[in-house]
Amino acid sequence: MPDPNKKNELNVPGKYYVDKELCIDCDQCSRDMPNHFKRNEAGGSYVWKQPVTTAEIAECEEAIVRCPAEAIGNNG
Ligand code: SF4
Repeated sequence: MPDPNKKNELNVPGKYYVDKELCIDCDQCSRDMPNHFKRNEAGGSYVWKQPVTTAEIAECEEAIVRCPAEAIGNNG
């Protein structure tokens, strides 16, 4: 389960984040949802833009479901 205390430091403040210890750097979230996730060249992904609209929130919720490492949290 993602832990808001283990957020990648690059995550912008807000509800959604990537847990830097759980992320396996598969790059899926940044490929599938580039409007909200980016890959850090040093490894791991992070949330660069928090969702605002209902559609954007749905996108981030979908990223949570698709993440193979269960590394994306929505309780930040
Ligand atoms: S999908 Fe999950 S494991 Fe893969 S890069 Fe994104 S946060 Fe990391």
